[in-house]
Amino acid sequence: ARREALSIVVLGASGDLARKKTLPALFSLYYHDLLPSDFYVVGYARSNMTSEAFRNTIKSSLTCRVIEGPECARKMEHFLSRCFYVSGTYHETTAFRTLDEFLVNEFEKERWNRGVPTNRLYYLAIPSNVFAEACRGIAHAHTKPPESTKGWMRVVLEKPFGRDLDTFQTLHQELQLYISEEQTFRIDHYLGKELVQNVLALRFANYFLEPLWNNQHIQSIQVTFKENFGVEGRAGYFDQYGIIRDIMQNHLLQMVALFTMEQPASLNAEDIRDEKVKVLRSLETLRATDFVIGQYMGYREEDGVRPGSKTPTFAACRMNIRNRRWDGVPILVKAGKHLDERLAEVRVTFRSVPGSIFSLANTLPNNELVVRVQPDEAIYLRIVSKSPGLTSRLEEARLTLFYRTAWEEAHDIPDAYERLILDVIYGDKSLFIRSDELKVAWEKFTPALHELEQSDRYRPVPYVAGSRGPAEADYLAARYGCVWASDLDIGGKRLQ
Ligand code: NAP
Repeated sequence: ARREALSIVVLGASGDLARKKTLPALFSLYYHDLLPSDFYVVGYARSNMTSEAFRNTIKSSLTCRVIEGPECARKMEHFLSRCFYVSGTYHETTAFRTLDEFLVNEFEKERWNRGVPTNRLYYLAIPSNVFAEACRGIAHAHTKPPESTKGWMRVVLEKPFGRDLDTFQTLHQELQLYISEEQTFRIDHYLGKELVQNVLALRFANYFLEPLWNNQHIQSIQVTFKENFGVEGRAGYFDQYGIIRDIMQNHLLQMVALFTMEQPASLNAEDIRDEKVKVLRSLETLRATDFVIGQYMGYREEDGVRPGSKTPTFAACRMNIRNRRWDGVPILVKAGKHLDERLAEVRVTFRSVPGSIFSLANTLPNNELVVRVQPDEAIYLRIVSKSPGLTSRLEEARLTLFYRTAWEEAHDIPDAYERLILDVIYGDKSLFIRSDELKVAWEKFTPALHELEQSDRYRPVPYVAGSRGPAEADYLAARYGCVWASDLDIGGKRLQ
């Protein structure tokens, strides 16, 4: 391979995401020899800091996952020695010029002189209201390298990408003035999760599922996301957005798309994203009546939450995909904060056995394929089996693929951000959201979001922190002949 240098510029380097996710992921990639050997990291934010102080602040958040010890300490020191910090605002081109000059003078010019191309990765770990000005600064201050050593420039953005269709489109048009779609990598970190990545393999590298994968055989699909904690210091952000925008319109909708899309023409990023867009276009536009919204008691007293806030911390909804494969299959999606457990999973429930010869047939559970994304990654199939011995009793059993016991490597599953940053470096966009995908996601959610916010008819139902959420969600599921199965796994227990 051609020798190339890489500057990774983390904007908002003083913030929560940079400290918790971006910088640890970069270190982990470096630790596993996955970063190009000639790299450097430059933190950029308004806070005044020396490079030394920056290294000290990030040091405590770096870990070597399983292997600690002298090798870890040595690599950490080496990684930190390649981290630098430049302070500046996001709205002034002059500030970005200072950043650009730093990159050129400290690293790039010398490489250009040696004929080494230099690539730049900008990671925007900043609030989305400063995305546009930051991209303007990056574009305007960019010093062009000599043509022979010209590398790529890529920009990574994190949600939220707007609040609704209009604000998304305005943001998108503004950003397009400065960076092209090709240079844009929009992260949905759920797509970097191991189990979510496995969905394509599960569906398209196995034979047995496909004939059953339609409305003839599948009764319902449930997508559940539960957190057992509240807004945890991010109330200011969360209160502006709420659970539907924070979790459903992006992470959970992506899971729905991966579970329901047709087989892509290839594993090429554009082919995968084409299929996701196609199935999302077949999704019926959501209305407020498709939702139950809730808010945990005590939310309004949290620091940063507006008095009398109507922001939902819980939402459940029913989706329908109007195409030949899925029409009529209720897709039940639920997300909530401060619930009874931490869990993200998808359950595909098959229909009950017609003409069953077993007398207790109607009390037996339907087959269910469960993909548990977190915690403790697992794929399992709920089946009915005869109890062993001189009995003819039937009971529920599971065929399980429990990652932790199935694979040695599962003890060390990389964080989603590691996978995603590596893909940015390789230029692989399969796990990043394309603009037309986002547009259709907003088209489907915007009418319901506006109705829920603008009409007094819809108020979030209060629920006790640590509970299952509002009982109204159960009535919603019952309207479609379903129960939230995740709450009723065998004996009320989850696979361990
Ligand atoms: P943050 O801590 O609130 O902000 C990051 C940095 O941006 C701050 O350290 C601050 O640095 C600067 N900043 C904050 N508010 C600003 C403002 N109004 N104008 C200009 N600069 C401002 O944000 P974060 O939690 O790290 O998140 C960064 C981005 O990732 C956001 O778009 C967020 O929605 C998204 N995200 C975060 C998480 C997470 O877990 N934190 C998860 C998913 C997505 P200086 O003051 O030093 O410039």
